[in-house]
Amino acid sequence: VALTGAGVSTESGIPDFRSPTGMWAEFDPLEYATMGAFRRDPAKVWRFYAPRFSMLTDAEPNAAHAALAELERRGLLRAVVTQNIDLLHERAGSRDFVEVHGSIRSSTCPGCGAGYPLAEVLPLIEAGGGAPSCPSCGGILKPDVVFFDELLPPEAIDRAYELASEARLMLVVGSSLEVWPVAELPLVTLRAGGKVAVVNRGPTAVDDRAHVKLDGSAGEVLQAAVASLEADDDRSR
Ligand code: NAD
Repeated sequence: VALTGAGVSTESGIPDFRSPTGMWAEFDPLEYATMGAFRRDPAKVWRFYAPRFSMLTDAEPNAAHAALAELERRGLLRAVVTQNIDLLHERAGSRDFVEVHGSIRSSTCPGCGAGYPLAEVLPLIEAGGGAPSCPSCGGILKPDVVFFDELLPPEAIDRAYELASEARLMLVVGSSLEVWPVAELPLVTLRAGGKVAVVNRGPTAVDDRAHVKLDGSAGEVLQAAVASLEADDDRSR
């Protein structure tokens, strides 16, 4: 089971949150990513999300996403649990993925409850000058991403805990593991007798308990792992 964070997508040109060049160096999360902020001023929250939606939809999956999809194809990876909202695992070909922080795949109207897929939300963002209005009731849509003061989608986080408890190895890629409850997942794997490997630039909360820690580029490390499997295939042919 792989557990990925914002660092798996930086090589696709999407900034992470907590590095010095990350998103929160520029935007205060309490003003842009909470339900309180959204209720107070949804148009302001969309001034943060509208450019983010176009950045995320323009981005392409990178070597790290491709390598995880390849590990799944080879039967070595059961599922990807991701904190990312960018849909890049799916676009790279991963089939079993769990999006514990939601995604930009859809948005919902808090007024009437109507849901809209991304392909319909993008023109609504454009038409609304940055803030998409609900075509049925005129309310401002909320992206189906989990804000800081919201609960995680129960089916997603339950499945993530189940996967973590059954994993023989949890491969953490590109996450500082500072956000709970996701940060607990590698500990669940360890408690159940599994192992943990970390591929991350910079420290993570689980480094001292990980069986392997590789401090490097997610794309380079995972691509090298797949290349070494391919070399084994060639040798055994
Ligand atoms: P984080 O910013 O806390 O941690 C990212 C980690 O990845 C950092 O330690 C960083 O040094 C490392 N890193 C950056 N680029 C890397 C690379 N190329 N190779 C290896 N490591 C690299 O992010 P997080 O742990 O995911 O937690 C924060 C929250 O950020 C999550 O809730 C997630 O929903 C959200 N987020 C998502 C996206 C996205 O969808 N792409 C982008 C930004 C933030």
